[in-house]
Amino acid sequence: METTQSPAAPASQMPVANATAASSRTASHAAGGSAVIDCRGVSVAYSGVPALRDVDLGIRSKEITALIGPSGCGKSTFLRCLNRTNDLIPGATVQGRITYHGQDLYAKSVDPVEVRRRIGMVFQKPNPFPKSIYDNVAFGPRVTGMKVDLDEVVERSLRRAALWEEVKDKLDKSAYGLSGGQQQRLCIARAIAVDPDVILMDEPCSALDPIATARIEDLMRELQETYTIVIVTHNMQQAARVSDRTAFFTTEVTTDEGKDRRSGRLVEFAPTEEIFKNPGDPRTEDYVTGRFG
Ligand code: ADP
Repeated sequence: METTQSPAAPASQMPVANATAASSRTASHAAGGSAVIDCRGVSVAYSGVPALRDVDLGIRSKEITALIGPSGCGKSTFLRCLNRTNDLIPGATVQGRITYHGQDLYAKSVDPVEVRRRIGMVFQKPNPFPKSIYDNVAFGPRVTGMKVDLDEVVERSLRRAALWEEVKDKLDKSAYGLSGGQQQRLCIARAIAVDPDVILMDEPCSALDPIATARIEDLMRELQETYTIVIVTHNMQQAARVSDRTAFFTTEVTTDEGKDRRSGRLVEFAPTEEIFKNPGDPRTEDYVTGRFG
C-alpha cells in the first residue's frame, strides 16, 4: 500500500486485535454497525493496468455483504484485497487504505498469514485437500500450531458447517468421496477451524446444484451469528436472498492517450432491499432489472 498512514501494528498484535474485536463488535451493533474492515480509496492494478479504482466501502460486523456486478468489474479483485491474497499474485499492486478493527491491514509489520487466518476465504470451486475429511478440517489448526483439542475443533467446525451428521461415521475417508455441495461445506468447516473473524466467499455456489446452493445459503445465515461474511456472487437472486448490504460494481471505460481503458468502479453500496427496490443510481437499476450486464 502506498498511502498507509497509521502507526504500524506489530504482527504479534493481530491476535490482540481479535481480543478487542468482540467488544468492538458489540459496540458496533449498539451503534448501528461500524466497519470491521474499512476501505478508503482502494485501487488495484495488474502489471500497471488499473483493474479497480477508488473504492470506499465499510464491511459491518456480523452482516452479510454481497458484491455484485458484471463479469470483469473487479469483484474478486476487491475481495482479495480484504485478506491480502492479491499479495500472492505477481504484478498486483494495491493502493489506498484498508483497516481491520482500526489496524492498517497492509502495515509492514502485519503478518499476511495471520491476516488470512483471521479473514478466511472460500473459493468458487470446492478445493478440499487430497486428505481425509478429518485431516482437511484439522489442517489449519495443525499448521498454525494452535494448542487445541483437535477432535473437538473438527467436530465443532463440521457441526457449524452443517456437515457433521453426514460425515461423522466416515471422518477417515477421503474428502474427494463427498458430493460437490458437501465438499464446499467441508471447505467452510476448514475455514472455520482456525477461528476466523471474517469469511470471504468468492462465488461459493457457482459450481453447485440448486439444492446444494440452498443449503449453503441457509448455512450462511447461521454462520452470520458468529462471523462477518462477504460474498461475491453473479446471482442477483442470491444476493437479494442472503445479504444485508449490497455493493454494486461496474466497469467504466475511460480514454487515456487515445486508448480505451476499462476499470472497475463501485457505483452504489446500500442495504440490499434498497439496492433491489429503490436503487439510487440508474446504472444499478439497469443492472438489477436485467437491462444491462
Ligand atoms: P470479477 O470478479 O468482477 O469478474 P475480476 O476481479 O476477476 O472481476 O477482474 C477484474 C479485472 O482484473 C479484469 O479485467 C481481469 O481481467 C483483471 N484480472 C483479474 N485477475 C487478474 C490477474 N491475476 N492478472 C491480471 N489481470 C487480472
